[in-house]
Amino acid sequence: MEFQNKPIENLANKKLFIFDMDGTIYLGSRVFDYAIRFIKNLRASGREVMFFTNNASRSVSTYVDRLNRMGFETCREEIMSSADVTAAYLKKHYAGKRVYLLGNSDLYGYMKEQGVLLAGENEDNVDVVVSSFDTEMTYQKVTAACRYLLKGAVFLSTHPDFVCPTESLPIPDSGAICAMLTAATGKTPKYLGKPYAETVEMIELVKGYDRSEMCIFGDRLYTDIALGAHNGMCAVLVMSGETVEEDLGGLAPEDAPEYIFPSLDEVDRAIFGE
Ligand SMILES: [Mg+2]
Repeated sequence: MEFQNKPIENLANKKLFIFDMDGTIYLGSRVFDYAIRFIKNLRASGREVMFFTNNASRSVSTYVDRLNRMGFETCREEIMSSADVTAAYLKKHYAGKRVYLLGNSDLYGYMKEQGVLLAGENEDNVDVVVSSFDTEMTYQKVTAACRYLLKGAVFLSTHPDFVCPTESLPIPDSGAICAMLTAATGKTPKYLGKPYAETVEMIELVKGYDRSEMCIFGDRLYTDIALGAHNGMCAVLVMSGETVEEDLGGLAPEDAPEYIFPSLDEVDRAIFGE
């Protein structure tokens, strides 16, 4: 792919810098020291930083603790996940409706806290099925979700990722679980999280910036980069995670990032100097 980064000033002038986590600021348990340095430099220069993950299987407080242990010195206000976007979406469009959640206990607790009316496995009908990265999935839960879908419940999913990276091989994630539900019911979900418009809209609302003042850094093309590319926000691809050179060849212009860097190390040096 013939690729030319835009002038670095376009990126340096942004006000809110949004980071994907795995593959971008760390890889598994390996923390990228340069990511800590870049984020420090951004904050010291008055720019704002935020972390956004599609992984709704862990609570935000889990991420705060994890990132702090890694040295990122963050707080609740800097972290958002697809669970936040989904809860906001449910409140806006399905307030007071009964929701069956195919998700683990962290997500269940969070949705309950947000006032979502959660249904059990043996109800006659529910209004909405929300499927997620359910690491505590059972055949019984899947069957309940399918039964509600076949009876006409709206089908939502927190995020479309097919796999979640781990120390060794990737493991099945939300998109793969949805594929199973689709195979069994013929229904397809409306996905939230990255790369969908609801996520950019929520960040604008919560942070008070226009999308033209924000940029996203990530390693996954169909979520991180598409979030920017499809929603009028600057997207920066780093090659420190999932994407390899060969993936870039067939990339359509509407799916392409505005910048590609080997890692955040080079972004930091381009903006702040050596
Ligand atoms: Mg990633």
